[in-house]
Amino acid sequence: NIILAIETSCDETAAAVIKNGTEILSNIVSTQIDSHKRFGGVVPEIASRHHVQQITIVLEEAFEQAKVTWDEIDAIAVTEGPGLVGALLIGVNAAKALAFVKEKPLIGVHHIAGHIYANRLQQEFEFPLLALIVSGGHTELVLMKEHGTYELIGETLDDAAGEAFDKVARTLRLPYPGGPHIDRLAHEGIAHIPFPRAWLEKGSYDFSFSGLKSAVINYVHNVQQRGDKVIVEDVAASFQASVVEVLTEKTFRAAIENGVNQVIVAGGVAANKGLRTSLKDRFQETKIPLFIPPIHLCTDNAAMIGAAASILFNEQKFSQWDLNGKPSLLLT
Ligand code: ATP
Ligand code: MG
Ligand code: FE
Repeated sequence: NIILAIETSCDETAAAVIKNGTEILSNIVSTQIDSHKRFGGVVPEIASRHHVQQITIVLEEAFEQAKVTWDEIDAIAVTEGPGLVGALLIGVNAAKALAFVKEKPLIGVHHIAGHIYANRLQQEFEFPLLALIVSGGHTELVLMKEHGTYELIGETLDDAAGEAFDKVARTLRLPYPGGPHIDRLAHEGIAHIPFPRAWLEKGSYDFSFSGLKSAVINYVHNVQQRGDKVIVEDVAASFQASVVEVLTEKTFRAAIENGVNQVIVAGGVAANKGLRTSLKDRFQETKIPLFIPPIHLCTDNAAMIGAAASILFNEQKFSQWDLNGKPSLLLT
């Protein structure tokens, strides 16, 4: 199947054409990061306006680069949630309009299913499969026994990993989004500050990052109060070491205890070099293959939405004309 996919859940306006859920014919992403930077985070109203301005351009470009005709396109897929409602609506309405005019089936896709299926653009899935999802709004361990089924075995009890990166970056006065800046500085610093690791109760696959975030904020304030200079590189290195250690160990234990055949990583924080190295090292000694997508497929894009939609297309799971943006849609 050939699917035209749209993603507008947050601050990237994206469209892609995907063949059989595995082959990228085109993948266009227009990011709005520069417009949100001076506010230190995504401003929903501004995001919606950008999506309106960009959606047609991005769609035309994706369609042209794919070198396909409308006859060859089997369905129009779009992220239906979770995300910012005003942002989601732009994509959903563009998808509906196209599906109606071109008489194609419509497929609503869960954004996190998309992040997971970004991995299938690289290699075929082997089940049971464990997915570590680490993004701006999610930190989850999901067990998949077959295509399109998701069992949530662990999740964050408070902040998402990406959120913690962004909040700590803000405390260190780094630009938004802070994740890539912390990542870069962490490699120039020494992880000597003993920030806490939230292991939670024994055997738990859940996560918690708010205590760590507070510990970093308190540390920075205390150093400043003493009149000393905060060594940003060391704070970044120590913070990242805490996040990476917990994510790596819980993923490792979940993989072993659930006897999975493959581990995949998804979401924007999967771009983190420290996390990539740590997971690779930890899984090297096992026979379980670990896959992490290239960085441009970790952050928001529409190729991943097309990849997830391909499975729904094969199962004939189409959406109806009442498809709507759902800000807190659950992954089921
Ligand atoms: P969600 O997917 O949960 O709806 P989102 O779409 O906003 O949230 P993504 O685009 O998947 O999130 O990821 C963005 C997040 O990834 C931001 O918090 C950003 O700081 C973080 N991030 C990006 N690159 C890195 C990196 N190298 N190290 C750490 N974090 C990073
Ligand atoms: Mg984004
Ligand atoms: Fe995302």
